[in-house]
Amino acid sequence: MSTAQPLPRNAAATPDVIDCVEPATLASLGSVPVDGPDAVRDAVARARVAQRAWGASSFDERRAVLRAILAHVLDHADELCELVVRDAGKTKDNALLGEVWPVCEKLRWTIANGEKHLLPEPMSSGLFVHKRATVLYQPLGVIGVICPWNYPLQNVLGPTIPALFAGNAVVVKVSEQVAWSSERIQRIFDEALEAHGFSRDTVQIVNGYGATGAALVRSGVDKIVFTGSVPNGRRILEGSVENITPVILELGGKDAFIVCEDAHVEQAVHAALAGVFISAGQSCMAAERVLVHERVYDDFVARVTTEVSRLRTGSALDREVDVGAIVSDEQLALIEELVDDAIAKGARALSGGKRGDAAGRFFEPTVLVDVKPGMAILTEELFGPVLVIRRVASDEEAIAIANETRFGLGSTVMSKSRPRARKIAEALRVGSCTVNDFGFTYMAQDLPFGGVDASGFGRLNGREGLRACTNPKAILEDRFPLHLPAKIYPSDAATYPLVREALRVLYQPTLRGRAKAALGLLRRARS
Ligand code: NAD
Repeated sequence: MSTAQPLPRNAAATPDVIDCVEPATLASLGSVPVDGPDAVRDAVARARVAQRAWGASSFDERRAVLRAILAHVLDHADELCELVVRDAGKTKDNALLGEVWPVCEKLRWTIANGEKHLLPEPMSSGLFVHKRATVLYQPLGVIGVICPWNYPLQNVLGPTIPALFAGNAVVVKVSEQVAWSSERIQRIFDEALEAHGFSRDTVQIVNGYGATGAALVRSGVDKIVFTGSVPNGRRILEGSVENITPVILELGGKDAFIVCEDAHVEQAVHAALAGVFISAGQSCMAAERVLVHERVYDDFVARVTTEVSRLRTGSALDREVDVGAIVSDEQLALIEELVDDAIAKGARALSGGKRGDAAGRFFEPTVLVDVKPGMAILTEELFGPVLVIRRVASDEEAIAIANETRFGLGSTVMSKSRPRARKIAEALRVGSCTVNDFGFTYMAQDLPFGGVDASGFGRLNGREGLRACTNPKAILEDRFPLHLPAKIYPSDAATYPLVREALRVLYQPTLRGRAKAALGLLRRARS
């Protein structure tokens, strides 16, 4: 079965505007004009001008801007949550916990820690003891950020905050699926920058479809941070070849969630619910394959099915719901196709298993068991509210299944034994692993975030993410001046044997060998 190919998006939209729709009610939100390639080039040119002043700013000034952004996000948290609920169909809790909170934590972390990771870093000068070695973390210039739809607020602020703090200007291309939010999000940056005397051109959001993103990739920006699907990740790489633009790719996932026989089952059930149903499963780090040891399998399945059958779907605007909407018709069709394929091949839905009845785009919270190799749901990114459970007989089998995917983003291990969980975490081919909780590696902002293999490369978050927004420039300067000319020219017949001997002095493996070589060198130097 050929599933999970990129499907056409937003078929109703014309090339010049994006028609925005609430996924939970299908109500129109109006339209947003598309920024074409010329508009993207203009935005990058303006950003380059603005970056001169921003790149020369002090860390105190940058912190002041970040504090203003944090104050804005906190003061307008309810409004921003409603924005996300309407544009992406999330629940209010998901918007607050999954968008506003990580953004606040990233701002707090960067304000508290950013400077220490970007200050000039003294390094060893190796053999050159008379020299001082330093790495300067200088801004790259203008960074282009291309976002997916699943976290309208966080996908924009997440990569922009470190890029900004490192002294860059940023041009962000948001997803056409959540373009409606972009004007409001732009205001967060505008107000903070202008309040501290910086140009609003320092951070600009552009709207459009793939062509707008492609124009940004080819616009001459100094780096691209792309978060999205694997097929479009390939297109980014192709486009980046033109100007040799460095890229960070944060792509898809097919994360395993391993429940060991010694896991605390209730804790595992609730972590799995979070892993599958936050954002209706539309998270890159969603727990897409839940692998449960046979000794706790029946208990886990019974408890999780009871919980899932109680979950309520619907629009979060007027009532309390547990699971939000699916962002687009194409995404809903993909989930349906993967679940139908699994059921046709012998899987059983213990709860849910089909589209919801409400007017908006919903898929019933689903528990799927008896899932077997050969079903596309085990290999293709699902991105839906479906708890896919497999029974395993040992940790080794769980590890082998977890690793049999082209993706390698996140993972979860549930076990009461720290050494056991650690052993499994070390054996997984992934960018991160959370033990006995779901997804907290992303919230611990000191930790790097990213994936391996088809999940992409490069890191956001932490020191690695911050420094990825810089040119780490190496400087070697005099500690004390010797003014001894290193005379390589003109060639001298004595140079080669002298250096040959010196290499032995430096690199002979034994002390005796080095001492012998030193004597030889002395003799040669005297002669
Ligand atoms: P997508 O690849 O369809 O779109 C992402 C962005 O790329 C959009 O803004 C889109 O307009 C733009 N785009 C499309 N074609 C382009 C082109 N040729 N050149 C430049 N830009 C182009 O992804 P999506 O459907 O919006 O998001 C879902 C995907 O994102 C999933 O695969 C998910 O796993 C992934 N994702 C990954 C992470 C992570 O951190 N690893 C986080 C969130 C989402």
